[in-house]
Amino acid sequence: MNYAMMKVEKMEVVSQLAASISHEVRNPLTVVKGFLQMLSSKDLTVDKKDQYIQIANAELSRAENIISDYLTFAKPTPENIVEVKVDEELLKMLDIIEPLAKQHSINVHHQLQPAIVYGNTSNFQQALLNILKNAIEAMPNGGELVISTKLEKDQVTICIQDSGSGMRKEQISRLGEPYFSTKEKGTGLGLMVTFRIIEVMRGKIEVKSIVNKGSTFTICLPK
Ligand code: ADP
Ligand code: MG
Repeated sequence: MNYAMMKVEKMEVVSQLAASISHEVRNPLTVVKGFLQMLSSKDLTVDKKDQYIQIANAELSRAENIISDYLTFAKPTPENIVEVKVDEELLKMLDIIEPLAKQHSINVHHQLQPAIVYGNTSNFQQALLNILKNAIEAMPNGGELVISTKLEKDQVTICIQDSGSGMRKEQISRLGEPYFSTKEKGTGLGLMVTFRIIEVMRGKIEVKSIVNKGSTFTICLPK
């Protein structure tokens, strides 16, 4: 691995992300501010007040979602490249999503082989979490989430498979495009962040999907 190059790229990613986050979070905050100002006016009907409060709440949720897609695990030393234990990080992320999976009647199965890759742990966690969250969100009425890892000669493969809504070809081709979302409260930023993180780790993501059957996200990373 060319360490110096990796470091430069990494910093580029960090500054790009920081710029988009502040832009993305500022928009909903500006809206909230405006509605709070309007709420302080005296001649407001109860209906109008309720409406303003609802809008402000929805915008705050939006800001929250943006932050969780981008920086759940953001650490102050993002250029730090270390050995990352794939199986251990996956187990940590599975713990985090467990309540959400339960809530949606999703059964989680995993078969993890110990494996090591190189990268920034926080970023890697963020990449996994974004894919896992999407898998759960694709199964609103329950289903099966299967996570497996495989060790090959010079790469580690991570498979995240859901039995959810699946995607059409056009949808698959738009994955990772900023703001592409089919969800009412989606940010369309999760996979953009994930793809970038895996790219910087010199990895690849392959997506296979069948409408109404489910999707499989396969991450290949060099050992
Ligand atoms: P968001 O989750 O905020 O919509 P993402 O970038 O995480 O943004 O995902 C973009 C879109 O990709 C989603 O809105 C959805 O249409 C599609 N998608 C991603 N993962 C899956 C999946 N596992 N099953 C079905 N569709 C998916
Ligand atoms: Mg998402």
